[in-house]
Amino acid sequence: MDIKAMDKAYVANTYNRFPLQLVSGKGSVMKDETGKEYIDLGTGIAVNTFGVADDVWQQAVTEQLSKLQHTSNLYYTEPCAKLAQMLCERTGLKKVFFSNSGAEANECAIKVARKYAAEKKGADCYTILTLWNSFHGRTITTLAATGQDVFHKDFKPLTCGFVHANANDLEDVKAKVKENKIAAIMMEVVQGEGGVIALEKDFVQGVAELCRQEDILLICDEVQVGNGRSGKLYGYMHYDVQPDIVSTAKGLCGGLPLGATMLGEKVETVLGFSDHGSTFGGNPVCCAGAISTLSRLDDVLLQGVQERSELVFKTLEGKKGIKSVTGLGLMLGIETEKPAGDVIKACMESGVLVLSAHGKVRLLPALNIPMALLKKALDVVVRVCGE
Ligand SMILES: *Cc1c(COP(=O)(O)O)cnc(C)c1O
Repeated sequence: MDIKAMDKAYVANTYNRFPLQLVSGKGSVMKDETGKEYIDLGTGIAVNTFGVADDVWQQAVTEQLSKLQHTSNLYYTEPCAKLAQMLCERTGLKKVFFSNSGAEANECAIKVARKYAAEKKGADCYTILTLWNSFHGRTITTLAATGQDVFHKDFKPLTCGFVHANANDLEDVKAKVKENKIAAIMMEVVQGEGGVIALEKDFVQGVAELCRQEDILLICDEVQVGNGRSGKLYGYMHYDVQPDIVSTAKGLCGGLPLGATMLGEKVETVLGFSDHGSTFGGNPVCCAGAISTLSRLDDVLLQGVQERSELVFKTLEGKKGIKSVTGLGLMLGIETEKPAGDVIKACMESGVLVLSAHGKVRLLPALNIPMALLKKALDVVVRVCGE
């Protein structure tokens, strides 16, 4: 049986995989089982921050792997403590809870918000407001947070205590805050799965101000847009706001599972002993990878993200078959005249891997993709969209 048939026979049918088996890669170039090469503009959905088998990252991870691959959270390890310090120093937030995925990072944020609000405002203040078109994960609770009914329909009843408001509509947010006892407002400053749409600055600042006035916690879901992808370390940093809680995952470690929930001053002591936990969370190998990744996300690197972003806009905007380009940094959505699926397929045939999001073509390249390679891949996208 070949691998594709074996996968179809034995792996649960949740993924509509492309007919492509990947075996190895280096940087932004991936190879399939026949040796054919592809320029990767997807990075495993914003996970491989510096591409595949990056030398610096690989060394950081393998060095830790040769010392200690895991211990329980009953003991201290250096990578976990150092990474937490690094995240706090670079965000101004005060404490970090480590988990293994974006959904779990959001679960922790929701637990913190509920406990904070119950203690401060009473047990009936537990509702979390999120935005329509958002994506916050696949667990029953983070599905409830996700403002897209398509993900909900077969899994009801979902966790109670979530309401949604329209993105970029401050009046709608204010109305929902009046109608409900709101503990927290959670949002992605760039809606990723929802079509790579950056929220408007006035809206985000208006929400932050409302949160301050009403003692509502502001949670930024930075699972996809965080860790340098936006051109700043975290996406909220484009908006001059200070969230109370920041959740992140995907690109944090650069290729291994790691989630983090960062807690600001208001909530740093909300979680006490045994309030929350995770067996794998804060795994030393993942933390070593994240320390390496974060330490490379300096001003020069982030400037490079910005330059690559400008190249994408300049190359794609106004071209035949391309209706719009949206997003921030290297988190980009392309509205195409052709169905996104056709563009993705044709790009793949021409040796370029791109993603989709809500009917758009989505690009999430490595933050250090060489300019020439990026240009080469974009020329393929332009050709495919215009044909
Ligand atoms: C991917 C994503 C999640 C879920 O992350 P998992 O690691 O798949 O659980 C949550 N929020 C946002 C914004 C995401 O992009």
